[in-house]
Amino acid sequence: MSINTDVLIVGSGVAGLYCALKLPRDKKVVMITKASPEECDSWLAQGGICVLRNEEDYDAYYEDTLRAGHYENDRSSVDIMIRSSGQAIEDLISYGVEFERDENGDLKYTKEGAHSAPRILFHQDVTGKEITSMLLAAVKKLDNVEIYDHTTMVDIITDGEACEGVVALAPKDSPLVAENTPFTDDGRAIIDIKAKEVVWACGGIGGLYEHSTNFPHMTGDALGIALKHNIRLRNPDYVQIHPTTLYSEKPGRSFLISESVRGEGGILLNDKGERFVDELLPRDVVSKAIFDEMKKSGKKHVWLSMENIDEDTIKHHFQNIYETCLKEGYDCTKEPIPVVPAQHYFMGGVDVNSDSRTSMQHLYAIGETSCNGVHGANRLASNSLLESLVFAQRAAARIEKEIGDIENDDSKLLNLNEYVNASLVFAKYKESVLNAIKAIPAS
Ligand SMILES: Cc1cc2nc3c(=O)[nH]c(=O)nc-3n(C[C@H](O)[C@H](O)[C@H](O)COP(=O)(O)OP(=O)(O)OC[C@H]3O[C@@H](n4cnc5c(N)ncnc54)[C@H](O)[C@@H]3O)c2cc1C
Repeated sequence: MSINTDVLIVGSGVAGLYCALKLPRDKKVVMITKASPEECDSWLAQGGICVLRNEEDYDAYYEDTLRAGHYENDRSSVDIMIRSSGQAIEDLISYGVEFERDENGDLKYTKEGAHSAPRILFHQDVTGKEITSMLLAAVKKLDNVEIYDHTTMVDIITDGEACEGVVALAPKDSPLVAENTPFTDDGRAIIDIKAKEVVWACGGIGGLYEHSTNFPHMTGDALGIALKHNIRLRNPDYVQIHPTTLYSEKPGRSFLISESVRGEGGILLNDKGERFVDELLPRDVVSKAIFDEMKKSGKKHVWLSMENIDEDTIKHHFQNIYETCLKEGYDCTKEPIPVVPAQHYFMGGVDVNSDSRTSMQHLYAIGETSCNGVHGANRLASNSLLESLVFAQRAAARIEKEIGDIENDDSKLLNLNEYVNASLVFAKYKESVLNAIKAIPAS
């Protein structure tokens, strides 16, 4: 069985959904997603989303992002993200997303580790659910977009140079199944989805780790496929460990204790009840201090105390954390909770330019799957939802142009030339420039 579409988006987290919303309405868009649309890491985001509050904060926000990233960030990507943040937030609000406001109705901002100023918008401690559910509702209203859940990309279709679609496995009762559809031995339908443009929005790699805050089905599938087809990766060893997840003997996803708990005054204590680190240092530094402390004490966790945060804030701002801790037997308004670092985020990924184009023609990557260098070696807290939105929008804008170019053959050459010129600016994109040159028709 083979179906055809203009754009195929693989993944339905914030990156995939926002890209679908930003594509032209006259283009047919198919989205496939490995589990249910709600089972994505975007849904789990707690702390919030960064925004440039005013021009005076630009330098500090830029510097905080670079310092956290060990100055390995792609500076132009950082600038694009920060400059586009106000528009992205306004857009989210227009889709119905509600952020916390003060008694005058003005937006409230919180602070997390390695931020020199409060610039994070939030919705209690379920910001990701608020944003993702609103974007999903908006996508479901679109006539040009179809979402197929429990449908997994297992490979791409390619002529060697350009991506032409993906091969997916779908449930046997999927609407994608036709009379001649082949099946795997374990009864899953094998579907070829042909597309003019393919967008990978497949999230991170946490499912490959024993302890991770991610959903277990986030297994870096796009990265495996990229390796198979020589699609360039970038910084595949840059993995972020979050300092504070709730320690539990139970198997399964580690429950995150958001950094904003420390931003609001939460402190880390060792086995003797002593503080041992500045809790607001970047995540990699705090994680290392915790591991050192665990090594010294021989214990499997340290403690996080919320004694400096008032009970109302804990119960309102951190309601989800409060209730989950209670279920695990800890009342965090009265006692410290055990915490341990766990895999959390992937800074590396499929190498993309600032329009989210990969090194393969007609293939884009956005969100956590991609690496445009914005996070450098370590992500600044609450930059990833923002980055996913900003670069998903840029991918959609580029795709709109690219599809126009495909439909008008004369402009295809111009389009490739533009790509080559843009790429020449960056010496490190040399390889993709050579590939692009090879792809230009001889005439
Ligand atoms: C617990 C937690 C808390 C977080 N808190 C924050 C925060 O406060 N602020 C912030 O900015 N960031 C936060 N993050 C990070 C942020 O949520 C993610 O980086 C971001 O949401 C990634 O969005 P995405 O769209 O790229 O991926 P996801 O939302 O993970 O979506 C990936 C999608 O791809 C699908 N998929 C994967 N493989 C395949 C395949 N082979 N075929 C088909 N579909 C596939 C999945 O089913 C899913 O729909 C947090 C992350 C976690 C885990």
